[in-house]
Amino acid sequence: MKQKTIVIASSNQHKLKEFKKMFAENEATKDIAFLTMKDVGFDGDIIEDGKTFEENALIKARAVNKFLRDNKLEYLVLADDSGLCVDALDGAPGVYSARFAEEHNDFANREKLKAELLGKQNRTAKFVTNLVLMNYDGTYLLAVGETNGKILENEVGSLEFCYDPLFYSFDLNKSFGEATEEEKNSVSHRGRAVQKLLKQLVY
Ligand code: IMP
Repeated sequence: MKQKTIVIASSNQHKLKEFKKMFAENEATKDIAFLTMKDVGFDGDIIEDGKTFEENALIKARAVNKFLRDNKLEYLVLADDSGLCVDALDGAPGVYSARFAEEHNDFANREKLKAELLGKQNRTAKFVTNLVLMNYDGTYLLAVGETNGKILENEVGSLEFCYDPLFYSFDLNKSFGEATEEEKNSVSHRGRAVQKLLKQLVY
């Protein structure tokens, strides 16, 4: 890779932490520096009005890429759009995961999920990530990661990151709320998307 600095197109502290750790642990990408949108002075609102995870990831990547180009900052952009897709809810909340009940209100979003699944037998679900790494010239790589599980009736573990305590991972046999960072990253939607992206970069 020529450019060694990536701007992460997200202000979600959990995502920033997860991405940095995953790139740092890979030999091929451990020297890449990360900047946040705040670090480069981007404070614009990005309207995520896409109908799919891919569209939204590209909307975020293009918005930050435009800002970088306008300011002659030759960095790459890493953008993801993720969400929870519940089978019994026909894939909802999906792209609306962050605003299922109320924008970025983790408590309200979890309460709504529990209420909608009340009495439902089928509780299977998956987390999905579409991850875009955009070059300065606007070309990009896309990688998709998924992880399967089921929705618990009540929260188990840390309440820090939205649906984590309600998502029982079939890979880990525990909720994401109970998992360590390493455990979650090793099987998570974002972890898998990053691994796929890194393979495209390295090989
Ligand atoms: P985004 O920031 O627009 O991609 O919205 C993603 C939303 O999906 C978050 O705000 C959470 O509600 C949910 N989400 C995505 N990934 C995770 C995760 O790993 N744990 C818990 N919730 C997640």
